[in-house]
Amino acid sequence: MIIPIRCYSCGKLIGNRWEKYLQMLLRKAEEQEKEDREHPEDKTKPKPAPEKEVLDELGFTRYCCRRMMLTHVDLIEKVMNYNIYEKRGFQAQMEDDEDDAAMSDAA
Ligand SMILES: [Zn+2]
Repeated sequence: MIIPIRCYSCGKLIGNRWEKYLQMLLRKAEEQEKEDREHPEDKTKPKPAPEKEVLDELGFTRYCCRRMMLTHVDLIEKVMNYNIYEKRGFQAQMEDDEDDAAMSDAA
């Protein structure tokens, strides 16, 4: 869903660095693309993964914290598409609240 605030294993604060992590990865990818265009002969040379460099720069030294960042799937944007109140508008929410109130009165 969203990045957990702390590492599950060691408790290190990681949630505050998610956005920065994504920005740095994007920047690294752009730099790599530019470098490949300028020096196509270097393309076959082995390089460290951009994720490794970014995680090192952000100070994630333990592998438990690194796996949190590497394996996280940010689903919140997709889940937000199923927010029924946003689709039907505020009025629908008010009607639902009235229905709930009526049901609790009946019980
Ligand atoms: Zn950790």
